[in-house]
Order: sequence, then C-alpha cells, then structure tokens
Amino acid sequence: MSGLKVYSIASDPIYIGTGGYTIGRVDNTIVRDPITRIPKIPGSSFAGTMRFYSALELQSAFKEEYRKDPHSRKEKDINELFDRPEKWITYSGNKWSLMKCAGQDEDPNEYYEDFEKINTPVSGHCGHCIVCKTFGYSKNNKSQQGIAFFSDLNIIFFPVYTRKGVMWITSKQLLEFARIILRDIELPQGEQVFVITNEESNKGENTINLGWLNLPYITKNYQIANELPNEFSYIKDQILNKIVLVPDDLISHIINSNLEVRTSVSIDPLTGASKQGALFTSEAIPRGTIFYGDIRLMERPVSNDMPGLSLVKEMIKDASRYYESFGIGGMVTRGFGRMKVFIDGEKDNGNLDNGGGSENEQQS
Ligand SMILES: [Zn+2]
Repeated sequence: MSGLKVYSIASDPIYIGTGGYTIGRVDNTIVRDPITRIPKIPGSSFAGTMRFYSALELQSAFKEEYRKDPHSRKEKDINELFDRPEKWITYSGNKWSLMKCAGQDEDPNEYYEDFEKINTPVSGHCGHCIVCKTFGYSKNNKSQQGIAFFSDLNIIFFPVYTRKGVMWITSKQLLEFARIILRDIELPQGEQVFVITNEESNKGENTINLGWLNLPYITKNYQIANELPNEFSYIKDQILNKIVLVPDDLISHIINSNLEVRTSVSIDPLTGASKQGALFTSEAIPRGTIFYGDIRLMERPVSNDMPGLSLVKEMIKDASRYYESFGIGGMVTRGFGRMKVFIDGEKDNGNLDNGGGSENEQQS
C-alpha cells in the first residue's frame, strides 16, 4: 500500500449537503463528522468528483481522433497518437474508455469481455480503462474493486474573522490528523487560546474575538506552518503568523459558530418572482478553509492487467486541477465549491501498514 497526501484550500464556500434536515435556523445543513460534529468533505464526494475529472481529462486528450467511435481505437495502436507512451493517457485499456466511465454505470448488466473479443459497443463503464481500474467497476460477470481509496477531507485550518484580521484556528487534534505533531509546546487549557506568531507580543490587549466568542490569549513564538510539508508553501505563506491554537474541546464549537450561512429564495418558474414563504438558509464551509486527506493506493499483481501505480498517481495529479474550475459539492453554479487541490508524493506509511507487497510499478 502506498498513497498520496492531499491538501486543499477552498476558493469558494463549500456546500456538501446532508439532503435535508434542519438544525436550528439553518434549512440546508452540511455533512459533519458524527463524533466531533466538525464539517468535512466526505471521501465519497472526493472520489466521485475525482473519477469524473479523470474521465474528463482522458476524453479531452482523445477528443479529435476517437470522438466518434471507441471501436476505431481498437484498430490503431493507441501509442501512435502520443509521443509519450509512458503517460497514463496511453495506458492500453484506455482504448475502451468513454465519458460514461465517469459517474454511475449506465448498464451494469452487460458482460465484461476481453479486449480482443469485444464487438458490441460499450454502453456503461468500460471496465478496461485506467479510470475504471482505479475507481472500480461492476459488470454482469465481473467486478473489481478500485485501486484508489479516498479518505474524507478534514479541516485542519479554519479561517475566522477577528479584530486582528482573518486568523486560522486549529487544534492539536486537527493537526495530528494531518500528521503535524506539535513538539516542545504546551497546549492551551480551559478557554485560553494561543496566538502563534514570531512577532513581538503586543501589550495591553489580552483577548481575541473568534467570531462572537471573546477569549483570553497569549502569544507563543512557534511556527506551526513550518511543520507543514515544503510542497505546501503556497498555503504556508498565507497563514504564516495568523494561526490560533485552541483547545480540542473548543474547536468544534468555534468552527460551527463561524460557518457561512446564506439566505436564498426559491423562484417560482411560472412567474419568475419569489415564491411565498420560500426563504431558505444554507450553511457552508467558508472560503480559505484548509483541508487534509489522503488517497491510499493498493498494489495489484501486474498480471491482472492493472495499470501501474505511477500511472494512477499521474492521473490523479492531472485530474486535480479541475477542482479549481468545476469544484465539489452542491450549488457550484451559484459560486460555491471551487478549491485548489495539491497532491503530494508518497505518503510515508512507515510501519503502520504491513500489507502492500513490493513497489512494482511496471506498466502494462
Ligand atoms: Zn472505463
């Protein structure tokens, strides 16, 4: 088992709805961790969008040559098309890929066949391309679990408006999830929070408002941002000297009382005016929130006609750029959901996993 680390920063508010129950004054609530009550982006949303964007990237590479008929791909050597046969795009099974390989299988009852025997048009997931192999597929006579497993994207730094401008709150628990271990620093207790900075502490003022909560603070000279991996420098620069470390038992409360809440009205399609009593509210994770997650990749025997993990990693990295334009979750047409996603190299699993076998990244 190897994997990829995923960091992300929201460029829009992010709304991933629970499909409708009401908490307090909010009509459309978002997905939360059942234990901590902290909002998150569920792994299923992350995997589903990644599948879609991978298929999109693959099809856009094919757009001219193979647009009309995937069967014309069979006649040609796909490598002829591209100068770089080592690219994930030119994985041999991609001859059968379609845009339908994204999303739900439209025809799970059709039969899975070997390449050479295929003579009927593929109508659902093709079952052969790198998208189907990575994210899994299920046909009448054969199904295969995917190679990639997506974790939830959990909040690690959350922006809150304060008198000092926007600060990013975090806690020991949130940081540990992202494998950021605080060394040689005591932790805030009770209602006290630490403003983490390398600047001189300002005298006189000793409380900070995190939203409407006013809490006593002390300044600590400690660089949490330095615990972030180097590849993450874009985000590091934004939050440097603007981190507030809060006790674990306050973090959920502060996040939940600083979510973005928007009020909208439903429009009556017949009159074009707002419907009577159609005011509704939606909550969302605010712009600037920083998330962490991981993607575990399962090694499969090469004999299984599986793409090598290096190709899968390339695909995921290429597909990730679509989050910046198309986003994730609901209400993406109303200015929600876009985020920047950074996929970083090898996740260091150390001795945590004993499964996995060799890093045998041959290409089929
Ligand atoms: Zn496919």
